[in-house]
Amino acid sequence: MTERPTGRPTGRPTGRRRVLILGGTGEAVALAEALAGRADVTYSLAGRTDAPRLPPGVAVRSGGFGGAAALAGWIEAGRIDAVIDATHPFADIIAGNAEAACRRAGTLRLKLLRPGWEARTGDIWHAAGSVADAARLIPETGGNVFLAVGRQQLAAFAGAAAGSGRQFLIRTVDLLTAAPFAGAVCVTGRGPFSVQEEAALLREHAIGCVVSRNAGGPSSYAKIAAARSLSVPVIMIDRPPPPPGDCAADVEGALDWLRQRLG
Ligand code: NAP
Repeated sequence: MTERPTGRPTGRPTGRRRVLILGGTGEAVALAEALAGRADVTYSLAGRTDAPRLPPGVAVRSGGFGGAAALAGWIEAGRIDAVIDATHPFADIIAGNAEAACRRAGTLRLKLLRPGWEARTGDIWHAAGSVADAARLIPETGGNVFLAVGRQQLAAFAGAAAGSGRQFLIRTVDLLTAAPFAGAVCVTGRGPFSVQEEAALLREHAIGCVVSRNAGGPSSYAKIAAARSLSVPVIMIDRPPPPPGDCAADVEGALDWLRQRLG
């Protein structure tokens, strides 16, 4: 019979609770590091990046589970006590799957979600409700465009680029094998970057508009600060709403939640 979490320790041979961390963010790595040796942690990645940052001292798995039902099966088979969804704020498919899977398996779940950025004096932000919205706003700006979005969103900007005469700068960790559309200029780089580095990039490519998702957190904020320092407008894409349920804003909050819920 599948053991279900009750909120109390279950007396396993190791005496440790089993925690699945859905990762791919700095917070996920930090949380896994903090839990290593105190819980049986499995750190899960989608497997999209060639050399991802991995937390030492925990089990790592890579690749999709095959949807919410399969994830529920994985959680049950692994007798997981709690799932921490520490995926990126824009990774909404896995977030929804985690919510559905944990509901189905009767397993505790927490969304670890860093707060979004807020505009400050000097910022020139245009709010976009979606990636498609952001693409529609581009003609209202001038100069070249720095597309600081995920790979899967790039295609949505092909129409805005077509015939615009503007370059669309795309920076990825792993080299793209082909430019996703005409007018795209691809460079590689792994952050975090300093504000000075980002300002130099914006100047070098004559960027007149940055398109960014409101990822929050310090690690990718430098481009926003650099845009502010150069009075470059930013089309800021809102986050998708998180699934219902418990939420923590940082690693400490997630550790507190685990202490309270698992003992
Ligand atoms: P997504 O669209 O929400 O998820 C797509 C599919 O990828 C999911 O249905 C799931 O496949 C698989 N998946 C996603 N995260 C997984 C994980 N941690 N472990 C196992 N499978 C996972 O996700 P995404 O936006 O492509 O992001 C993929 C990963 O990159 C996430 O782990 C995220 O934290 C990280 N990341 C994303 C961004 C971003 O901009 N979105 C930025 C930095 C890092 P199955 O349905 O087959 O289970």
